[in-house]
Amino acid sequence: METFDYVIIGAGSAGSVLANRLGEDLGTKICVLEAGPSDWHPYIHLPAGFIKTFHMKSINWAYQQEVGPWTGGRSIYAPRGKTLGGSSSINGHIYNRGQRQDFDTWAQMGNRGWGYPDVLPYFKRLERRVGEGDETYRGRSGALTVTTMEWKDPLCEAFMEGAVSLGIPKNPDYNGAIQEGVSYCQRTIEGGLRMSAAKAFLHPAKKRGNVDVRTHAHVTNIILEGKRAVGVRYLKGGRNGTPVEVRASKEVILSGGSYNSPQVLQLSGVGSPELLKSLGIEVRHALPGVGEGLQDHYAPRSVARVKNIKTINELRRGWHLWVEVLKWAATRRGLLSLSPTMVYCFWHSGETAESSDLQLTFTPASYKEGVQGELEDEPGMTVASWQQRPESRGYVRARSSDPFEPPIIQTNYLMEEVDRRVVVAGMKLARRLLASEPLKPYYAYEDFPGPKVQSDDEFLAAVTERGTTTFHPGCTCRMGPASASWAVVDDQLRVHGLQGLRVIDASIMPRMISANLNASTLMIADKASDLIRGKVAPESVKLAGYA
Ligand SMILES: Cc1cc2nc3c(=O)[nH]c(=O)nc-3n(C[C@H](O)[C@H](O)[C@H](O)COP(=O)(O)OP(=O)(O)OC[C@H]3O[C@@H](n4cnc5c(N)ncnc54)[C@H](O)[C@@H]3O)c2cc1C
Repeated sequence: METFDYVIIGAGSAGSVLANRLGEDLGTKICVLEAGPSDWHPYIHLPAGFIKTFHMKSINWAYQQEVGPWTGGRSIYAPRGKTLGGSSSINGHIYNRGQRQDFDTWAQMGNRGWGYPDVLPYFKRLERRVGEGDETYRGRSGALTVTTMEWKDPLCEAFMEGAVSLGIPKNPDYNGAIQEGVSYCQRTIEGGLRMSAAKAFLHPAKKRGNVDVRTHAHVTNIILEGKRAVGVRYLKGGRNGTPVEVRASKEVILSGGSYNSPQVLQLSGVGSPELLKSLGIEVRHALPGVGEGLQDHYAPRSVARVKNIKTINELRRGWHLWVEVLKWAATRRGLLSLSPTMVYCFWHSGETAESSDLQLTFTPASYKEGVQGELEDEPGMTVASWQQRPESRGYVRARSSDPFEPPIIQTNYLMEEVDRRVVVAGMKLARRLLASEPLKPYYAYEDFPGPKVQSDDEFLAAVTERGTTTFHPGCTCRMGPASASWAVVDDQLRVHGLQGLRVIDASIMPRMISANLNASTLMIADKASDLIRGKVAPESVKLAGYA
């Protein structure tokens, strides 16, 4: 049987960073197991390919969530990347770190070394920021290129002026000192191509020769000897593939993402004893927090019909598209270099909000049923709005002992009253933004939720009818002290009560942050690499307000 120092399960955002950093020690042997194929498909790399990879089952787990109490009887689609780079290879390219309070809260929950001044050096170390940014907050020499949207669309400009007219200031860098305000979005795009975690970290790591990346390797379980993880079993080639075992002399690292990491733990006999017994899985280690606490951002998309200008809905058809194809081929710019979201707006739902609790995004396009997979034919513009720090929590549970059966995903969106209140406030603000004075020349009428919707109850009904995921599941293997019944890993990301096993991905977040999750997942993995290697953490950034 082959033995490596480290076996990493999942070559996604976190797995890619880990392979790179751990592989810097050239004497270290690393095996990375990825269920999906290599990331060769051109739609992964073309930014506008987002709309194609959204449903592409060859590189997407394409999960379906359980019907929730507030989703109007709908099962919400949950795409997840299944290729090198994981979800960073199919995501919307947005680079957004969150607010300092997000990480300070993690530290206050008992996690030493995870406050904002501690994690900021890792955000900086990872990125190569091109464009606006104060050096206190931004990095210039990392591997992950972060650029600002360069397409200057009249509708986007008018939207931003509309925000300013409502008292929302322009913010030159929402990843800087403060998040609040409106601006073009920052993206992981370089030269008109996607900068996935695989491109930035995994492919360069492979070149060193000590990182063995195996695709089509579906991990079925972690091998435990007593309370120690010693290796991993996988099927080479999927369900009917060849069973293979690899050993880890130092550690097994689980980076399967927020849906799959808890499922792999449960399949390995680590989790709630009641759940495991009900599935006929032998309990190897009782840990009730596994899979519990799932959080995500839930967003309705408000749509207005547009006049006097072309939106992306029309530009992606007929001869316009051919012009855009030629433009991209010649300059790597234009429609095909766009992300599904173009402008970001962070604001608060009311005067008493402790910091901006609303995230709104603007796109000069609109989607069928408000779901990002398919554009509408008639001209439209969209504002999505969501509660940044939802309180509602759900769970991920293995459906059976079959590793190929999708897990049960119940996010319980809007279960908590505060989430319903904030998302309704967001939709009301979206209406005011779309109807603002600077957008008037282009605004035909509000299509969704439509003028009949006026009261809070009517807005809430619209939210439940059309809201959807923004693809940010987290918190299913939460980091916290051993005394917390919900905690799965400690602040070194070691699984409580086991040796030789860490979980390192978006699932370890103890609480949802005010951001899309890619940037912080990369940060988590980078910080974890130092913890594993016993490296001294970079000096925390000296910021006003911190001791
Ligand atoms: C459609 C979409 C749009 C998004 N848009 C944005 C955005 O614009 N900005 C942003 O910041 N975030 C965005 N996100 C979220 C962000 O990309 C993820 O939060 C982040 O990539 C999660 O990283 P991860 O390492 O936790 O998991 P992933 O990157 O999902 O990696 C997990 C990897 O593990 C592999 N794996 C899982 N189970 C197994 C198994 N049993 N055996 C072997 N391999 C396995 C998977 O195939 C995958 O490659 C988006 C996500 C999606 C899906």
